[in-house]
Amino acid sequence: MMQYDILIIGGGAAGFFAAINAAEMDPGAKIAILERGKEVLSKVRISGGGRCNVTHAEFLPKELVKNYPRGEKELRGPFHQFMTGDTIAWFEKRGIELKIEEDGRMFPVSDTSETIINCFLSEAERLKIQVRKSEAVKTLHWKDSHWEVGTQKSTLSASKVLIATGSNPKIWNLLEKLGHSISPAVPSLFTFNIKDNRIADLPGISTHAEVKVQGEKLQDEGPVLITHWGLSGPAILRLSAWGARELHDLEYNFNVEVNWLPGFSSEEILEQLKVLKFDLAKQQVFKKAQFELPKRLWQNLVTASKIEGNTTWADLNKDELLRLAQQLTAAVFQVNGKSTFKEEFVTAGGIDLKEVNFKTFESRIHNNLFFAGEVLNIDAVTGGFNFQNAWTGGYLAAKAMTS
Ligand SMILES: Cc1cc2nc3c(=O)[nH]c(=O)nc-3n(C[C@H](O)[C@H](O)[C@H](O)COP(=O)(O)OP(=O)(O)OC[C@H]3O[C@@H](n4cnc5c(N)ncnc54)[C@H](O)[C@@H]3O)c2cc1C
Repeated sequence: MMQYDILIIGGGAAGFFAAINAAEMDPGAKIAILERGKEVLSKVRISGGGRCNVTHAEFLPKELVKNYPRGEKELRGPFHQFMTGDTIAWFEKRGIELKIEEDGRMFPVSDTSETIINCFLSEAERLKIQVRKSEAVKTLHWKDSHWEVGTQKSTLSASKVLIATGSNPKIWNLLEKLGHSISPAVPSLFTFNIKDNRIADLPGISTHAEVKVQGEKLQDEGPVLITHWGLSGPAILRLSAWGARELHDLEYNFNVEVNWLPGFSSEEILEQLKVLKFDLAKQQVFKKAQFELPKRLWQNLVTASKIEGNTTWADLNKDELLRLAQQLTAAVFQVNGKSTFKEEFVTAGGIDLKEVNFKTFESRIHNNLFFAGEVLNIDAVTGGFNFQNAWTGGYLAAKAMTS
């Protein structure tokens, strides 16, 4: 039976990061990564639209954690040990410069995930980490002071095991049998499917708005993007992440209320409209967008308020003003289903966080068993935060496994 000091199950972001750091911290350690697929790092390859959004330019742990609907409390301590600045320095030390985009997302300057993959592969080779592909782990037992790990090809033993299998239900089942509790998996980071004349002909238009899920305590404010299928953009994606469980329970059928003029109430806008009625009396309402709204969106909202195309501001009656104020500040859209956000998606769910020691990422149920990455019930909004969780967990688990 092959014997190792550290076996890492899963050749993804967290697995590689942990293996490389462990090998550097303890150069004598015998380390292997077991990967079920023919290729390693396949999610890294497709991540961030092929550019790999490595992390996010947020440098305060207490701010960074606010991006994790699941894991907010638990990651605070770990981020004090290893977070964004450390990630940047880690890659810089290996010749990879990261750049910050306007919205805070950080990518390699090469703009390709290949750079990150090549770095991990060459580091693994340099540090003599065995990368065993096409080895899906099927069994895991504690036996005579060692973990015994069974794949379809071999049986291996190790003093310490790190599970970094991402959102793989089979491993969750195996861990359940070992006494861990698993929070059921549901999708996170998705866009809302909406068929509605107010947005049907506007794909590509993006505007700042406030969005609320009716009947739930879910709301957000930020850019909203109109797509061929409905609504997307950061504000919608954040709602999908914070509401991953609630929206799943609603089977993705719910109403979303959009305030296209965030910060203003219906009453305030009604007052503004009354001023415009006076100031723009002879102009046609439909023709010129107000409140800096995109013109075609304004026109669709005017039409939805049942205001005829040639109506002038002076002609607007009380009901029309009310309906327009309503469309501008509380437009209700019926959501029927969701679509995948191609740049990044994750699964909410995984190992119950109460069962993990977040100083070491070790199981509280079994000694010498560690976790990192998406296998835990941790996930983030879009923007590089999911990888940051993988780097932080991988690093701290490596430190604990080699100390
Ligand atoms: C399309 C897409 C784009 C994304 N873009 C970004 C982005 O730009 N920025 C960001 O922060 N996040 C992004 N994410 C999320 C990010 O990819 C994940 O959060 C991250 O990869 C999790 O890392 P991980 O190592 O925990 O899991 P994974 O990267 O999923 O790796 C797990 C590995 O374990 C292997 N495995 C599973 N079961 C077994 C088994 N039984 N035996 C052996 N091996 C096994 C899997 O094959 C896989 O290789 C994206 C996700 C997707 C789907």
